[in-house]
Amino acid sequence: MTAVSNIYPTAALRALDAAHHIHPFTDTKMLNAEGSRIITHAEGVWLTDSDGNRIMDGMAGLWCSQVGHGRQEIADAVHRQMSDLSYYNTFFKTTHPPVIALAERLAKLSPPQFNRVFFCSSGSEANDTVFRLVRYYWDQMGKPEKKVIIGRWNGYHGSTLAGTSLGGMKAMHGQGDLPVPGVTHIAQPYWFGEGGDMSPDEFGIWAAQELEKAIDRIGEDKVAAFIAEPIQGAGGVIIPPESYWPEVRRILSERDILFVADEVICGFGRLGTWFGSQYFGLEPDLMPIAKGLSSGYLPIGGLLISDKVASALVDMPGEFYHGYTYSGHPACCAAALANLDIMEREKLVERVADDIGPYLQARWKALGEHPLVGEARMTGLVGALELVPEKGNRRKAFDNTGTVGTLCRDISFRNGLVMRAVRDSMIISPPLVLSHDEADQLVALARKTLDDTHAELKRQGKV
Ligand SMILES: *Cc1c(COP(=O)(O)O)cnc(C)c1O
Repeated sequence: MTAVSNIYPTAALRALDAAHHIHPFTDTKMLNAEGSRIITHAEGVWLTDSDGNRIMDGMAGLWCSQVGHGRQEIADAVHRQMSDLSYYNTFFKTTHPPVIALAERLAKLSPPQFNRVFFCSSGSEANDTVFRLVRYYWDQMGKPEKKVIIGRWNGYHGSTLAGTSLGGMKAMHGQGDLPVPGVTHIAQPYWFGEGGDMSPDEFGIWAAQELEKAIDRIGEDKVAAFIAEPIQGAGGVIIPPESYWPEVRRILSERDILFVADEVICGFGRLGTWFGSQYFGLEPDLMPIAKGLSSGYLPIGGLLISDKVASALVDMPGEFYHGYTYSGHPACCAAALANLDIMEREKLVERVADDIGPYLQARWKALGEHPLVGEARMTGLVGALELVPEKGNRRKAFDNTGTVGTLCRDISFRNGLVMRAVRDSMIISPPLVLSHDEADQLVALARKTLDDTHAELKRQGKV
C-alpha cells in the first residue's frame, strides 16, 4: 500500500497544503510563507518527517498518545470492529456491544461516584455537553435560576463556542464576542507568573478564595458549576501550589454548586493516577475526557457523570435533547478499549507514578539550573520550563511575549525534539511508554535546545 504522503516530494506536498488546507490555531499567511512540517510515520515516541528526519514526540501528539504511536494491536481491533459493524448510532433506543463494553469499563476505572458516561468525539464536545447538562440538571432540580458557570482565566476547555467560553483564553474570547452570557472567570493558580510578593502557599489560598468571592458576588442561588483542569495544560502546565486544591475543596464542600474536573489532559495516567482528580483528592460531579482515552488512534471523548447528576437523567422523567451522530462510534470505542487493554497490561499508570515519572522529573527539574530557565516544573509526565531574561527574577519577562518561546520551539524541532511553546515557556507531555534511555535523550535534546536558544538570544542582545 502506498500512502499519499510517500509519493510526492516535500516541496510539492507543502505547496498543496498551502493551497488547500486551513490549519487549526495558525496564522495561515505566515505558515504558508514558511511551509508546513510534514510527518509521514510514527512509532513509539518517534516521528519521521517527509525528509526522513527522526524527531522525538515530546508532546505525545497533542497530549494524547499515552501508549505511543504505531501499536498494531489497536489498528487490528479497529479493523475487526469495522468489519463487524462499521457504524451505527446510539439514538432511538439502540446500542451496540463496543459502546456497552467501553461504558462499563470506564465506570469501573473511574472513581466510585461515576457509573455513567455520555460519549462524543472530542474534548470540546464533552465540554459542550457539560455546559448543557449542568443547566439541565438544575432545571430538573427545580432551580432553573442556577445558570452561571465559573471558569478560570487561562483555562482551556476546547475551541467550540461552549469550550471557548468556559475556557479563559482572552485572545480566543476576543474573536467573536465570547464568552457567551452566563460564564464568568476567576484567577488561575499560576504562582510563577502572577504570585507577586506572596509565597506559593499564600498565593494558592488567595487564588482558591477567588472562587468563594465569585460565588458570593454572583449569589450562590445563581451559580450552576465551577469548571477547572486539575493541572492546566494548554495554559502552560500550571501546577497549582499545594495549598490550592484543599482550599477549593473546602469551599466546594460548603456550597451547593457542581464541580467539573476537566480531565481531557490529566485523565488516563498523565499524573500517575487514572484521573488527575485522584492525584489531588478531588471529588468532581462531572469529568470530561478525551485525548488519552484512545491515545489519539481515533477521535473519541466523553463525559463521566456522577450518580448525583445522573439522577436527573435516570430517576426523573424528561428527555435531554442532546447528542452527536458519532456518540459512541463503534470503531472509536474499539480503539479506546484496545488502548485501555495496553495501558492496563503494561501498567502504564503505575509506571508514571513509580518509575518513568520520578525518573524524568528529577532530570527535567535539573534543567532549572540553566541560565535561561526561571523555573522547571513537572508532575507525572507533564512539565514546563519558564524561560526568563534575568535568572532569579521572575518579575522580569521577555518583551513581545511568545517570541522567545517560538524561537526555542523551532530550535527544538531542528534538534529533533517536539516541545510546545506557551508564551515564553516550553512544555512537554511525552507518551507514557517513554523508556529511561529515551528520557535521557529527551533531556539532552532539551538542554541542547536551551543552550542554542541562549546563544541566539545573546547574539540578539536579549539576555
Ligand atoms: C484539548 C483539551 C480540550 C479540547 O479537546 P478537543 O478534543 O481538542 O476538542 C478540552 N479540555 C482540555 C483540558 C484540553 O486539554
